[in-house]
Amino acid sequence: AQGHAGERVAVLGLGRSGLAAARALRAGGAEPLCWDDNPAAREAAEAEGLLCTDLLRGGVLESASALILSPGIPHLYPAPNPVVAAALEAGVPLDNDIGLFFRSLATSDWASHDMPPRVVAVTGSNGKSTTAALIHHILGESGRDSQLAGNIGRGVFDIDPPGDGAVVVLELSSYQTELARALTPDIAVFTNLSPDHLDRHAGRGGYFAAKRRLFAEGAPDRAVIGVDETEGQFLSNQLSEARGDDRVIQVSVTRKLTSAGWHVFVRKGFLTEYRKGRQVGAADLRPVRGLPGAHNHQNACAAWAVARSLGLAPRVIESALHSFPGLPHRSQVVAESGGVTFVNDSKATNVDSAARALAAFPRIRWICGGLEKEGGLDALRGQTGAVVKAYVIGREAAAFAMQLDVEAEICTDMATAVARAAADAAPGDTVLLAPAAASFDQYDNFEQRGADFTAMVRRHL
Ligand code: ADP
Repeated sequence: AQGHAGERVAVLGLGRSGLAAARALRAGGAEPLCWDDNPAAREAAEAEGLLCTDLLRGGVLESASALILSPGIPHLYPAPNPVVAAALEAGVPLDNDIGLFFRSLATSDWASHDMPPRVVAVTGSNGKSTTAALIHHILGESGRDSQLAGNIGRGVFDIDPPGDGAVVVLELSSYQTELARALTPDIAVFTNLSPDHLDRHAGRGGYFAAKRRLFAEGAPDRAVIGVDETEGQFLSNQLSEARGDDRVIQVSVTRKLTSAGWHVFVRKGFLTEYRKGRQVGAADLRPVRGLPGAHNHQNACAAWAVARSLGLAPRVIESALHSFPGLPHRSQVVAESGGVTFVNDSKATNVDSAARALAAFPRIRWICGGLEKEGGLDALRGQTGAVVKAYVIGREAAAFAMQLDVEAEICTDMATAVARAAADAAPGDTVLLAPAAASFDQYDNFEQRGADFTAMVRRHL
């Protein structure tokens, strides 16, 4: 990372992204001072010749020009990490690898390319990974050099140096956008807003503010904004007013947009793009296998808008939508047998994403439950019209089942749930894992839960 040459920069958290940031700082001529509470992580860093030192020792933080934080470390809520508190006390600014990345973009050799790389940043409550991966896929299929990084398992500093005309697609969580000191994507995407992670952001307003920073400070050339919630409408109105209609592309899957600006929406499975009152693109999403349901149509619209902004033709994008394999654990068809489809949506950890999954299939045998999220399950009421029966897992399965407005069987573990649902299923049914809960009561993470579901399904068939 350029922009900090000759400076000391503290790095807290030596996971993948923290390590990559420390390496990049060193490569850019800075002196990273690293720490992780986990001795094994420190050892790994030291093995690479990085300097690990207790950041709470007197004078250490004071000598640093910034503190780079890993995404898992709380900087404000529910309580700041002690090193963060000390940094704030000492007036040392907080930052993260994303902020470093944007700063170094401005000062690195890349900026002097004939065709400097373009950066697309995707934020929102749900659909970030799918949208980012889809954009990356479309670009790849069209022959553009594209790299995917951010909150999606690859640190921004783990990517290869982008070549001429390359695109870097970043998935950014609200924690990442809130902390980054620089946020200057060329194209920014806001998918939607739902009440998840409110605990770390002091309510919906704080959460929205964190996501919004991407638009306020970055002033992207182009903003792609989901306008199916009030917040998105607000953002889109503000940006259009300030920056002109052509800078904003509105996306909707709930209504036909009619403004004079640029927009992409889906009605009855057909995607349509309008610009200045004229239809300029269209695609039939109904046969697209990898993107089932209205929620995925929203992701398709957002990815379409980005690809169009980057100059791709509608027919190229449409054919790439067809070849998108989908992401594991998100509306992922893992098996089909005897007319029954088995779908792994383990990533549906909150009520909103689960409701989307429930709206995406007919005749659902619904495997749900786990560690309940703040806010309860009330928002699921009335969303369960397609559910034939629920098969509830989790340590608190009985309490979870009591809150549902459908017939529910307490299964507790995944093996029982899959066996019971498969035994009950008739041709045309979908056995859907969409927990509407976190996984930590029974699993390390949602991936492990999805893998367990998939293994049980395979064992059963
Ligand atoms: P994120 O990276 O924002 O968590 P993912 O693409 O990983 O988003 O999807 C998370 C969960 O939300 C999955 O259960 C997925 O099926 C569901 N989902 C995907 N796209 C959307 C959307 N546009 N709106 C609501 N839910 C969505």
